[in-house]
Amino acid sequence: MISSSTQSDAASRVRIIAPGATLGVLGSGQLGRMFTIAARRMGYRVHTFSPDQDTPTGQVADREITAPYEDLEALRAFAKDVAVVTFEFENVPSDAVHALEGLVPVRPSRTALYTAQQRGREKAFLSERGFPTVPFARASTLAELQDGVARIGTPVVIKSAAFGYDGKGQHKITRPNEVERVWNALEGREVLVERFVSLQAEISVIAARGLDGMVAEYPPFENRHSNHILDVTTAPALIPAAIAARAREIARAILEALDYIGLLCVEFFVTTDGDLLVNELAPRPHNSGHLTFDAAVTSQFEQQVRAICGLPLGSTELLRPAAMANLLGDLWAEGEPNWAAACRFPDVKLHLYGKTQPRAGRKMGHLTATARTVEEAQELVIAARDALLS
Ligand code: AMP
Repeated sequence: MISSSTQSDAASRVRIIAPGATLGVLGSGQLGRMFTIAARRMGYRVHTFSPDQDTPTGQVADREITAPYEDLEALRAFAKDVAVVTFEFENVPSDAVHALEGLVPVRPSRTALYTAQQRGREKAFLSERGFPTVPFARASTLAELQDGVARIGTPVVIKSAAFGYDGKGQHKITRPNEVERVWNALEGREVLVERFVSLQAEISVIAARGLDGMVAEYPPFENRHSNHILDVTTAPALIPAAIAARAREIARAILEALDYIGLLCVEFFVTTDGDLLVNELAPRPHNSGHLTFDAAVTSQFEQQVRAICGLPLGSTELLRPAAMANLLGDLWAEGEPNWAAACRFPDVKLHLYGKTQPRAGRKMGHLTATARTVEEAQELVIAARDALLS
């Protein structure tokens, strides 16, 4: 849904970065790859910057720059050749973003990135602004952690404040006497302690805010994890309409509060008590939005291009109910998956990221199915994934 029908007036006042220009992306994984595919489809060129070579993004970009994020000279050279810089990987050192900022627009901004880069800062921002979160405490010493656990009450989850992803650096404890062991396991770095809540569902709202201040968000998607890694996403989420509307409203308000330009994913918990709580923010396209490539009028990647280039945002309407299943490296354990068997499902789309090393737990690709109902789409995508091992 786009917030105003008069967006064309406001948009016409914005200086756009027109097709033909070169866009810069920091990071070089699958999110950058799909961003690049969307950008090139619209006539942009793309340069990617990361420490790696022959990357998922680099394989489809016009140029792949390989240098450490700490190499400020290389970053400055990268900035000179692009009209705007965005991210597909947010854990870029703040100095790197600072070095770019003076030379080229960086979207989302360093301040927005700074907030979303670290769990502690992110949760503090959310609660200061009155957004609902699980009860939490930040701790930099064992004594602070013990105090936090005592205040919140077990069971709790202790997370390293610096972002791990896919559940890395997280420990659930049920008894206060386990705190010291976890503190030592996390090597005494800053941590966040959260009440462990009982979940009815996990949903995400992917939203974009353009240079003209217009916001567009997709309906909530529902996410199921396996071993802390996203396994299957279904869209739209089958949750009460009031919760869906509230989640969209919160996502929009977060973008406004951050004065955000670009694409942001807001992950929520829906508790068994029916509470809606913000879990975390991802300042970039998100795994749960991959299905928008095949199932929405505008993909999350095209939306990111539009937002950072000052173009009006596209429609976030879903064309059909959809489901996405991740393909992890584990599928390669017995050799190459049976691609033809999955492609025998005419309503299933195969996406592979060009990674050559299929390690266990590594995201190698995904499948998207569209169907008449969410349930049918989910059944299809899982059947197609099972067929890969036939
Ligand atoms: P995170 O990396 O914070 O997104 O956490 C990874 C997953 O762990 C989430 O998607 C939830 O399934 C689970 N989780 C994290 N924090 C909590 C919590 N406070 N209560 C219950 N489950 C949680």
